[in-house]
Formats: sequence, structure tokens, C-alpha cells
Amino acid sequence: MGELDSFETQQGRDMSDNGSCTLPGMVLCAKQHTATIEGVRQMAQDTWAVRVSAPELAAAVTPGQFFMIRPSTGSDPLLGRPFALFDVYYDSQGQPAGVEFGFVKVGKMTSLMSQWAQGDVVSVWGPLGNGFPVPECEHLICVAGGIGQTPFLAVTREALGLNQYGSGNRTVTRRPETVSLCYGVRSKNYLAGVDEFTIPGLDLQIATDDGSVGHHGFVTQLLKNKLSLTKSGVHVYCCGPEPMMKAVAEICRQESVACWLSLETPMACGFGACFSCVTKVVEPDGTWDYRRTCVEGPVFKAEQLVL
Ligand SMILES: Cc1cc2nc3c(=O)[nH]c(=O)nc-3n(C[C@H](O)[C@H](O)[C@H](O)COP(=O)(O)OP(=O)(O)OC[C@H]3O[C@@H](n4cnc5c(N)ncnc54)[C@H](O)[C@@H]3O)c2cc1C
Repeated sequence: MGELDSFETQQGRDMSDNGSCTLPGMVLCAKQHTATIEGVRQMAQDTWAVRVSAPELAAAVTPGQFFMIRPSTGSDPLLGRPFALFDVYYDSQGQPAGVEFGFVKVGKMTSLMSQWAQGDVVSVWGPLGNGFPVPECEHLICVAGGIGQTPFLAVTREALGLNQYGSGNRTVTRRPETVSLCYGVRSKNYLAGVDEFTIPGLDLQIATDDGSVGHHGFVTQLLKNKLSLTKSGVHVYCCGPEPMMKAVAEICRQESVACWLSLETPMACGFGACFSCVTKVVEPDGTWDYRRTCVEGPVFKAEQLVL
């Protein structure tokens, strides 16, 4: 790994009422890492997981943060693309060795990435953005749609006390009694990472649009079922397609349950310079203004977003 460049970014959760967030005003250092691919595996239809060797990034990154990935040479594609942390992996001494991310093939970069192989060298810029707050609730319900499952392996492992992320500054002081993942995909061929999510203590519920496995219908029904049992002490974390996140936010609003969304707004720079990833956020006076998903997000409290 070599560091070509670095900068400090104020990871400012400067919006008021950010619930249980424990990162106010924290300064993190994103760096350019030249990383070797340690492994590529197909997780599901059109979906791969890639492990890259990047010890410093692995030691710093926290659940819900992301990095910008691009080839280490050439200029096409010119811009990196954002991918969320799936998980950190460790060396034989138990030290953070690298990160794994998952992706679905949709366009130019991800088609190229699907050809990547062990030993290839890539450029990784991160850690970036504000991830999910440290869970401080009785029941954490994660709701994932499609490849929106990627942040939730680290989220659920942290919530269950199976792993600690970041350099000692992020501690779960009040572990949820119940951790659930409601995971919806179009069809069972697109289910990615089910083996990884089969971890002790995780309540995993699956929905498919075509009924090929699990609940036949939208993942939002699984959330409604859970909230019909109890809403007390529940926090919801969600990532997936925009219509799904909007539906989840509306359910949580109706049920008065705190909800955070991780936006996947397309972005160009990843560090706040280009403003290509802005999203509308409600101001305290009821008006709205733009915030950059890359630095003020990608995780926002749902009630703060104009969806
Ligand atoms: C913070 C963040 C984290 C992300 N994490 C992951 C992840 O873990 N795994 C993963 O697979 N993807 C993730 N994404 C989305 C991923 O960045 C895009 O799929 C990727 O940039 C597509 O690049 P491409 O060159 O293959 O597609 P392009 O050639 O750039 O685009 C192909 C098509 O996909 C559309 N598209 C591109 N990006 C998006 C997007 N973000 N949302 C909706 N449509 C889009 C384009 O409009 C176009 O129609 C994340 C996005 C963000 C902002």
C-alpha cells in the first residue's frame, strides 16, 4: 500500500438532532491508497465481492462509510466510484489487513470491476463520509434493498459485539438486545452475502419480489410486521433503491420510529468539492437547503431529508 495523497475532512454531523450519533465534529483522515486485490468472488447474479489490501484504511473505516474506487492507471474511467464498506478482514496476527466491498454490475466501472482479479492493483480513496451512528437502542432493524445490503454486515457485526471498527473512537456502549436484518431482492439469484449474514444472534428475514425465497413481496412488509410487534426502543437503518427508502421512511414516520437512510446518490469527487451529489435537507425553520451526500452523508436521519 502506498499513500499518494491525503487530506483531512471535518466529518461534521452538523445537523441538529442526529440521535445517537457519536461522531460530532470528529476529524478523520481520508487517504489515497494504492491497494492490491487479494480476492474476487461472485456473490450472486451480476454481483461480486472484492478484497483489497489496505491496512490503514481497514483500521480507520467504520460501518456505513465508503471509499472511491478506480483503476490505479489510465484515465478511463477518469472518476472513481463510491462503494460502501462490506467488512474489514484481518491478518494472522489479528491486525486489520484490508477491506471488502460488494458491487453489482450496472455500468462502465462496475463492468470493468467484474473483470478484476487477484493481484491487480487499484486505487482506493477513503474512508469517506459519515456512516451509521453507533447503535443505541433496544432493537436495531436494518432494512436492505438489493445491493443496499453492503453496509449492513459491518453494522450488524458491530451491533452484536462481534467486531469493533475504527481506531478506538467508536464504542457500542449500549448493545441492542435484538438485531434484525430485513433483506429484499428481486429474486433469489440476487441474494448476496447470505452466508456472511448467517451470524449468531442476527435475526435475518428475506423477501423476494417474485416469491422465489422468503416472504413473497416487498421488504417493507417485513418491517411493518416487526413494528406491529413493538415500536418501543426500535431504531431503523436503511439502504437501497430510492423508492424503497422513501417507503421505509414513511412507515417509520407513521410509527414514530427513528430512522436513518444511507443515500446512494451518484457522486464525482467524494470529498465535497464538486457538489454533484447534493440532496435536499430540511432546515430548522422548515425551509430546505442542499447538503452533499459525500461529506454530510451518506447517512442522514430520514426526517431531515426532503424525499
Ligand atoms: C455512498 C455510496 C455507496 C455505494 N455503495 C455501493 C456498494 O456498496 N455496492 C454497489 O454496487 N454500489 C454502491 N453504490 C453505487 C455505485 O457507486 C454505482 O453503482 C456505481 O457508481 C456505478 O458505476 P458504473 O460506472 O458501473 O455505472 P455508470 O456507467 O456510471 O452508470 C450506469 C447506470 O447506472 C446509473 N447509476 C450510476 N450510479 C448510480 C447510483 N448511485 N444510483 C442509481 N443509479 C446509478 C447511471 O445513471 C446509469 O444509468 C454506492 C453509491 C454511493 C453514493
